[in-house]
Amino acid sequence: MPAPFRIGYGYDVHRLQQGLPLFLGGVLIPSSPHGAIGHSDADVLLHAVCDALLGALALGDIGTHFPDTDLSYKGIDSKILLQKTYELVAHSNYKISNIDCTVLLESPKIMKYADEMRHLISNILNLNMANISIKASTSESMGFVGRQEGVAAHAIALLYRNE
Ligand code: MG
Repeated sequence: MPAPFRIGYGYDVHRLQQGLPLFLGGVLIPSSPHGAIGHSDADVLLHAVCDALLGALALGDIGTHFPDTDLSYKGIDSKILLQKTYELVAHSNYKISNIDCTVLLESPKIMKYADEMRHLISNILNLNMANISIKASTSESMGFVGRQEGVAAHAIALLYRNE
């Protein structure tokens, strides 16, 4: 008998560089002095959500499914990666209950974009916005986030068996 619930956890980090666009939760954060470096658009939040969903189903990780050695993923919009990940969930025996995320970024402040991110993720995952939580924190000037060298995101997802 498959488990009634499955939980998954995702974590991602990308280096920041001046002058690059910053994508978080599928949203381009305007007026950010720096953006994240990556093979795709380097959206740490969407990558963490993908890994949480894949983790819940024990399907490996985002690197397994979308390797950075594959040129077809170069510069790709991470919303497409989340869509592809959702297709794996949709073909499983589970549905998403809720997702909770925390983004770690020293600046700029991003909470005013959280609802737009939730709305975008909600559309891709076919999940009510009320079941998608996005939180943000700085790192109190400590560590790589505090020094503005990088941006990180954590996500957890709870899935329930589709009866
Ligand atoms: Mg990543």
